[in-house]
Amino acid sequence: MTVLVTGGAGYIGSHMVWDLLEAGESVVVVDALSTGFKWAVPPEAKLVVGDIADQALMRQTIERNYVDAIIHFAGSVVVPDSVRDPLAYYENNTSKSRTLIDAAVKSEVKNFIFSSTAAVYGDAGLLPVDEEHPPRPESPYGLSKLMTEWMLRDTAAAHNFHYTALRYFNVAGADPKGRTGQSTRGATHLIKIACETALGKRRFMEVFGNNYSTPDGTCVRDYIHVSDLVAAHRLALERLRSGGSSMVANCGYGRGYSVKEVIASVERVHGAPIDARPTSARPGDAASVVADSSKARNELGWVPQLDDLDKIVESALKWEAALQFRNQR
Ligand code: UDP
Repeated sequence: MTVLVTGGAGYIGSHMVWDLLEAGESVVVVDALSTGFKWAVPPEAKLVVGDIADQALMRQTIERNYVDAIIHFAGSVVVPDSVRDPLAYYENNTSKSRTLIDAAVKSEVKNFIFSSTAAVYGDAGLLPVDEEHPPRPESPYGLSKLMTEWMLRDTAAAHNFHYTALRYFNVAGADPKGRTGQSTRGATHLIKIACETALGKRRFMEVFGNNYSTPDGTCVRDYIHVSDLVAAHRLALERLRSGGSSMVANCGYGRGYSVKEVIASVERVHGAPIDARPTSARPGDAASVVADSSKARNELGWVPQLDDLDKIVESALKWEAALQFRNQR
């Protein structure tokens, strides 16, 4: 049996592929290489360069490789871009997912794991949010993912098809073994930007807003190490394969750090101050987004191993320092 990983040449997908191979799985990756990198796919995995919306290609890939499970990462992830060009996000994240789910049903793949997001909640208030909280996405990005969750729910009700949608909080860090990391060009995430600044790839960085209703006035987020996130996917895969029912689960640690605390961590780990300049709030940023992750812990048996902000930052810094050489390959 083979696991099909869409977006396996990207940031989270490539960590997933390494993890599956280590667990002895056979893996086939489908990636259009629009933002991912060929070098990020381990040589032991088969790489098919193509579009998940090419249904003939997907069905052929599924059937020729005896795929029994799909882990679906491929998609667009930049929230402000989704506001500027919503139809591109509904196409890339929603329509293409529909075609992929259709291919899965037609080729009788019963197990499907979907990369969803905390953005489905919108501004959920200052307390940790659980899966029962009514989704109210504030961006086309969040809605494009929520619509896919709903397609999965309805497909599971109609067919012999089971899914797990994992709602990611703020994913950061890099493979502790240094094999892959966040390499996306123009990535805008806080830990990435702070690491680039520490390493002199940028002269300064900006802190968006300092007047939020949080302890130090900057936004609070639940930063989760990418390797712990990937571990949750593998538990979800085992659970689905052994007949577990469809579910939606948050993936975060349940603890938030402010922008200032993250910058302080980067300074601590790097050993030098960063030029971080306060500026106006970024439109659409919620004050605090923290997961209640009891469900993943109880139902998937998920036990995070890398729940330590400095460790996340350390792995991200190490990767960032190595990255300029990698991207030339
Ligand atoms: N942020 C910041 N400066 C940056 C990038 C991000 O102050 O250069 C803030 C951003 O406003 C948010 C938090 O850091 O409050 C996390 O942002 P990120 O883009 O990493 O993730 P998001 O929570 O928006 O998905």
